[in-house]
Amino acid sequence: MTKPIRRVAVIGAGVMGSGIAAHFANSGIETILLDIVPPNLTEDEKKVPANRNRFAVNGKTNALKVKPAAFFHATNADLVTTGNTEDDLGKLANVDLVVEAIIEKMEAKQALFAKLDGIVQKGTIVASNTSGLAIHHMVEGRSDEFRKNFLVMHFFNPVRYMKLLEVVPGTETDPAVLERIKRCGEDQLGKGVVLGKDTPNFIGNRIGVFSMLLTTHLTVEHDLLPEDVDLISGPPMGHPRSASFRTADIVGLDTFVHVADNCYDSLVNDKERDVFKSPAFLRTMVEQKLLGNKTKGGFFRKTKAGNETFDYKTLAYRPSANDEAIKATTKKLSKIEDVRERVKALVADETIVGKLAWKALSRTLVYSAGLVGEISDDIEACDQAMRWGYNWELGPFETWDAIGFEAGLARMKADGLAIPASVDKMLASGASSFYQGSRKFNLVTGEYVARDLDPRAKGVTELRKSPKPAFRNGGAEAWDLGDGILGLTFTTKANSIDSDVIKAIPEVVALAESDYRGLVIANEGDHFCVGANLLMVLMGSQQKQWDMIRGTVTGFQSAVQRIKYASVPVVAAPFGMTVGGGLEICLAAHATQAYCETYAGLVEVGVGLIPGGAGNLNMLWRALSAIPEGVDVDPLPFVTNVFKSIAMAKVSSSATEAQQFGFFAARDGISMDKARLVTEAKARAIGLAESGFTPVVPRAFRLPGESGIATLHMMIDTLVAGGFATEYDAHIARKLAVVLCGGAGGATHPVTEAEILAIECEVFLSLCGEQKSQDRMQSMLATNKPLRN
Ligand code: NAD
Repeated sequence: MTKPIRRVAVIGAGVMGSGIAAHFANSGIETILLDIVPPNLTEDEKKVPANRNRFAVNGKTNALKVKPAAFFHATNADLVTTGNTEDDLGKLANVDLVVEAIIEKMEAKQALFAKLDGIVQKGTIVASNTSGLAIHHMVEGRSDEFRKNFLVMHFFNPVRYMKLLEVVPGTETDPAVLERIKRCGEDQLGKGVVLGKDTPNFIGNRIGVFSMLLTTHLTVEHDLLPEDVDLISGPPMGHPRSASFRTADIVGLDTFVHVADNCYDSLVNDKERDVFKSPAFLRTMVEQKLLGNKTKGGFFRKTKAGNETFDYKTLAYRPSANDEAIKATTKKLSKIEDVRERVKALVADETIVGKLAWKALSRTLVYSAGLVGEISDDIEACDQAMRWGYNWELGPFETWDAIGFEAGLARMKADGLAIPASVDKMLASGASSFYQGSRKFNLVTGEYVARDLDPRAKGVTELRKSPKPAFRNGGAEAWDLGDGILGLTFTTKANSIDSDVIKAIPEVVALAESDYRGLVIANEGDHFCVGANLLMVLMGSQQKQWDMIRGTVTGFQSAVQRIKYASVPVVAAPFGMTVGGGLEICLAAHATQAYCETYAGLVEVGVGLIPGGAGNLNMLWRALSAIPEGVDVDPLPFVTNVFKSIAMAKVSSSATEAQQFGFFAARDGISMDKARLVTEAKARAIGLAESGFTPVVPRAFRLPGESGIATLHMMIDTLVAGGFATEYDAHIARKLAVVLCGGAGGATHPVTEAEILAIECEVFLSLCGEQKSQDRMQSMLATNKPLRN
């Protein structure tokens, strides 16, 4: 077993250093964050420790404030201690890893490493987060021990959210060090580790910046508008919506030009070197501090008059305006759901859309193929770098396969592109695609080799044991995931809950009880579940189909309760948006194994409702179960806390926060890598099944009843008086208070689950009948935004 990293120091508390420190803390690793002593302090100021640490403290404060959040939860920040490089380098003596994230200047990095060489203990790993400086230069003059323990860990910004971590060993890096950092990146930080070579800008930025600059040159050559080119080089190509120019604005044009210059200066023998030459207008933009989002203006800016684009010919801003034909064509292409089909259709398009896309793509694919052997020996590493570091849906070789290896190659040759010899050899060998199932073509050796697939990164598709599901209806499927575990997957749009899903749940639970030893609720897509099918509720309400709505609510309540009282363990595996009914399912499960990026909440008040799938009951159950038997405490503070979560429609910004909100238990699992979520949830289900699982025993609750309702109503009145809630928010909240307090008679007897569910259902139905609730539902369906009427 490789030894995990337990203590880390990060030097340089700027954008990257503070983000890296935060993410180590997110993984539960103690981190020391150091920066220089501010250079302009007076002699007196220098004597005050707080002044000396100011840069590092600011870095940590910025990480706490930045949006999107760098920390999973503010408590993770407690793991980060701050200091400075004059007084605190001694603290590095007992860390496992030092990550350097100071300015991108060779002399500064060399000077720092010279200092560290005498300080860090034998075996401490030192990693640089350089964007592309050469390792052999950085470690010049360092001891053998230092060089053996040195490598590059190139994180992408924002560190918490970008999956790519390029790890680059030097010629003298100990293979055990490389393995330990790879394990740390994947297992502890949840990153997708790609091994690079010591070449300028490694893999992601070499291909990424080439592609962006090539697109920029083609834009000028074809006299096109940046806003039109972004429509072409975005979703139709399988690239993010920010495409080329908007991505440059996000990265910062100064950084973009800097990385391009680094390539141009160091790649003197590169056949495509000229592509890395930034056009004059780009340098003008940098000189004029039009750097993109950080200066509120780059290629694009927002003004009161509307959106504007930088005109590269007049060097001034003009109103943004898309070409109608390009807009229509790209819109049509973007609708093709299968990305491979989409890219194929794009390059087949005969208008400027297809022509430009083909020119940009074909040259990028050929360039990437020519780099194999130089930047990496592995086509899959190149594809992963572009997917994880640039959010492309397909890397270059996957894109080429989508277009068709042979057809694409023939067209490239017809265009006169210089094809690398390795690709010609591949064709001659009879190979027809870069990937073939679990094999990939090795362009260096000229043969297919097995793909290095992570055995823990198996989803439902890879785990399932038979080609047919064990259960299927119009809204859900259940698959045998092996080892006695059944997996339930919703197949509805955005995994919403409809009548088929409601019907499937009890049937699948029964199947798990009879033929399996555990059940995992493992959905696929970007979001675990966006809640109930709102359109169905709204239409039922408008048509006053109260029996239908009552049937749906009681049906969903009993489906959820069926999960809770299953005789085999049920593990929910949430990720992304897990709201409304999606969270109600998790609340009933015996354990959750959540992806760290899980945004969970009971958000029903936003659409004029309250939770209707036992969410109120099970929030109470979770909160009140924490009180040990025999402890005579007032339930009201617990109820109030649940009330606040639901009435304020709180949504967690991470799985850690969802634990703090009481949505998930403190001992529930958190997966750092989404690719491993299903496998880890399955492991949890097996663990529960093998460690003495016993079904949940029903209980009744001591609730605050009438006096609790009165107290909560007073709280609501204060919120309305203070302008924090509308009168209709208050109306819903008053009804919610009744449910959570067990009704007016809640304090007179132990309230059973059936009683709470009955009140929940009545209140839900009564709200469906109110015009303002219907307006809220309508607005959400039409605009995707809550209406505060
Ligand atoms: P930054 O300017 O935001 O931060 C650099 C920090 O280092 C500053 O706080 C500065 O005070 C501190 N510093 C400078 N010299 C120092 C020294 N000798 N000792 C200690 N601290 C020192 O820069 P950044 O964007 O965070 O980049 C840091 C490194 O990460 C660079 O090597 C950069 O190329 C690399 N990188 C940046 C990005 C990105 O998107 N910004 C992405 C990947 C890698």
